[in-house]
Amino acid sequence: MSVIKQITVLGATGSIGLNTLNVIARHPDKYAVFALTANSKVDELADLCVAHKPQYAVIGSVNAAQQLKDKLTVLNVDTEVLCGDDGLCHVASHAQVDSVMAAIVGAAGLNPTLAAAKAGKKVLLANKEALVMAGDLFIQAVADSGATLLPIDSEHNAIFQCLPQTTNKSLSENGVEKILLTASGGPFRQFSAEQMRGVSPEQACAHPNWSMGRKISVDSATLMNKGLELIEACWLFDIDESGIDVVVHPQSIIHSMVRYVDGSVIAQMGNPDMRTPIAYGLAWPDRIDAGVEPLDFMQISSLDFEAPDEQRFPCLALARQAWQQGGTASAVLNAANEIAVAAFLNKNIGFTDIAIIIEQVLAKQSTVKATTIEVVQAADAEARLIANEIVAEIH
Ligand code: NDP
Ligand code: MG
Repeated sequence: MSVIKQITVLGATGSIGLNTLNVIARHPDKYAVFALTANSKVDELADLCVAHKPQYAVIGSVNAAQQLKDKLTVLNVDTEVLCGDDGLCHVASHAQVDSVMAAIVGAAGLNPTLAAAKAGKKVLLANKEALVMAGDLFIQAVADSGATLLPIDSEHNAIFQCLPQTTNKSLSENGVEKILLTASGGPFRQFSAEQMRGVSPEQACAHPNWSMGRKISVDSATLMNKGLELIEACWLFDIDESGIDVVVHPQSIIHSMVRYVDGSVIAQMGNPDMRTPIAYGLAWPDRIDAGVEPLDFMQISSLDFEAPDEQRFPCLALARQAWQQGGTASAVLNAANEIAVAAFLNKNIGFTDIAIIIEQVLAKQSTVKATTIEVVQAADAEARLIANEIVAEIH
């Protein structure tokens, strides 16, 4: 392995992808970009290839790949272009790669993220949907291959930082009593149920503290993001959902906490900037400059906390329910959510229909044991069908 670490960035044109490239570019002595991927943004990916000179670029379709090749030829960039799921899995598991930033949004990230885990890579996991869908298989793949799984989601990265790092003991053997998963509460924290019925995609995507992709912004507004994160935390830290409390903290300064049996609570704090967890993941167990503004306590007037309101935000309870159901229920929850969020962003359904659709899909579809990736994918496909039917009825 070279001293300079070779990094594949899956989802390079997205919010996490661009933040990752920003951190990498600050440390040319430590990191080089091996591969960059996007779904459809040919021009943006071409520009990133000019800036970072990766060995490979991967894009969604054959057509887009041809356009990208033509552009790179004109730009005189010597990057090999691949396409589709095979291309993604190739650059996620390539022998020359040290670390893979898994930052594709949604279920589309599952196969390449799993490929990275199976190939024993250092997997920097932003794509929470992959773990929610197939947590059991994913954690098993990491154990079998000896891969390193590092959470990039700010809350999970915070929890990881607040836990003892040097022991193989379980959480309870380490004296952990609770994980306190913080949530900003999103843009509609103080909206009534009635007010939420009429909100637009633009309002839902205007997060008070974080600048993110559209899908996760809507998830934050419904609190499904916290629901997905709850399941993500269960898998990452080997804990039941009953061991995790969600704490609404509107300022997003504390990124999550761990409470110990002796009464100590350890919190990780910082300005809300994803470059902090990304830099921690890249350099772990070391620390590197991330370009993040230092936290100025003199500028923080207060840190507030409140309980989440599961009446107005039913997605959180639906996620707990899916975790308790086990098997493919979390994959069903995730797929129904992806369809409902896309329908909301396309203005086919209202904001409060999102939770209704997920609840109905969970009720209609029976859960089976998630024994193979094919079983998970079949459950995902069925949930999408059912969710689309309900969307069509509402629309
Ligand atoms: P964005 O929507 O900003 O970016 C998504 C990326 O995935 C883009 O590069 C996009 O390509 C690519 N992509 C989308 N669909 C496909 C597909 N079908 N096949 C291959 N690639 C695809 O998302 P974010 O960066 O906000 O989020 C990425 C992941 O990180 C999500 O799972 C999210 O939950 C998680 N996360 C994000 C945080 C944030 O602050 N943004 C915080 C914590 C977690 P293209 O541009 O061509 O469409
Ligand atoms: Mg998060």
